[in-house]
Amino acid sequence: MRVLGIEGTAWCASAAIHDAETDDVFIESDAYEPDSGGIHPREAAEHMAETLPEVIDAALSYAEDTAGAGGIDAVAFSRGPGLGPCLRTVGTAARAVAGTLDVPLVGVNHMVAHLEIGRHRSGFEDPICLNASGANAHVLGYHDGRYRVLGETMDTGVGNAIDKFTRHVGWTHPGGPKVERAAADGEYVDLPYVVKGMDFSFSGIMSAAKDLYDEGVPVEDVCFSLQEHVFAMLTEVAERALSLTGNDQLVLGGGVGQNDRLREMLATMCAQRGVAFHAPEPRFLRDNAGMIAVLGARMLAAGDTVPISESAIDPNYRPDQVPVTWRGTTAS
Ligand code: ATP
Repeated sequence: MRVLGIEGTAWCASAAIHDAETDDVFIESDAYEPDSGGIHPREAAEHMAETLPEVIDAALSYAEDTAGAGGIDAVAFSRGPGLGPCLRTVGTAARAVAGTLDVPLVGVNHMVAHLEIGRHRSGFEDPICLNASGANAHVLGYHDGRYRVLGETMDTGVGNAIDKFTRHVGWTHPGGPKVERAAADGEYVDLPYVVKGMDFSFSGIMSAAKDLYDEGVPVEDVCFSLQEHVFAMLTEVAERALSLTGNDQLVLGGGVGQNDRLREMLATMCAQRGVAFHAPEPRFLRDNAGMIAVLGARMLAAGDTVPISESAIDPNYRPDQVPVTWRGTTAS
């Protein structure tokens, strides 16, 4: 079974082919990089409209070149959450390709895909997932047919919060990698640490980080402390989720998961608890169509397809809205 995945919820126009028999994943992506400021929804949607045809063509050419393995059995696309103008472009592209190839359409929740790619790559059966991405931050666990949100941000996504700080200091988007580089030369300064039960908040810490920078504290020190605080908050809630559920497997998802220090903190916590930890390789952590194709294949195997007439996108599509049809099936 081979599935074409299409992703484009925010900054990354991406198409992928996943072959369920060989587990090969071909991914072609084109990133939107704003000249200044953050992601502008209209510009991002224009980027999708310009580049999706090219990345889809590349994926379909790959599928054709490896045609011995058979054609495309379905088109899976990111249905949400994400920026409305981008999602509408992705949805239109997916419907057009599915209609042209006369194959079923699979509507994938982007955040569940961030989780499922970790489950798929690790082979873990029933992990807790920390999704640390740009627009989101939450801890998920499976119970009774759904991925439940065990903890989440009370304001901005973790990556977006970091990006807001870097915009303030004049660095271009995305800010996360620049903070990681600067933090290597930094020392500890105090910042707020906000965990309330199973939830976290990033807005106060970002304002405090901006204030420190404005007061003349070296940017390297602010970056170092930003990482230490924010990642400790994520690690604390992930640990509490493991403790409360008694689960002994953790997977990491989302673009902020590319950060070495976050992975180090999570790995240390898991080692201390005797918990198995898996962070997928970077190409599967940041937004990518590979994770959409992989989950799409599982959903297809479970018969979880969507008619074109009911395939509207949903910018606020929460992971706990998704009936998990594919677990417990043979392809799960
Ligand atoms: P979502 O998946 O919630 O829709 P998104 O579309 O913004 O979020 P992702 O690719 O998951 O996309 O994450 C992008 C974020 O990851 C950006 O905020 C970026 O700054 C951050 N990021 C990328 N690399 C690093 C890094 N090395 N350290 C910290 N943050 C990083």
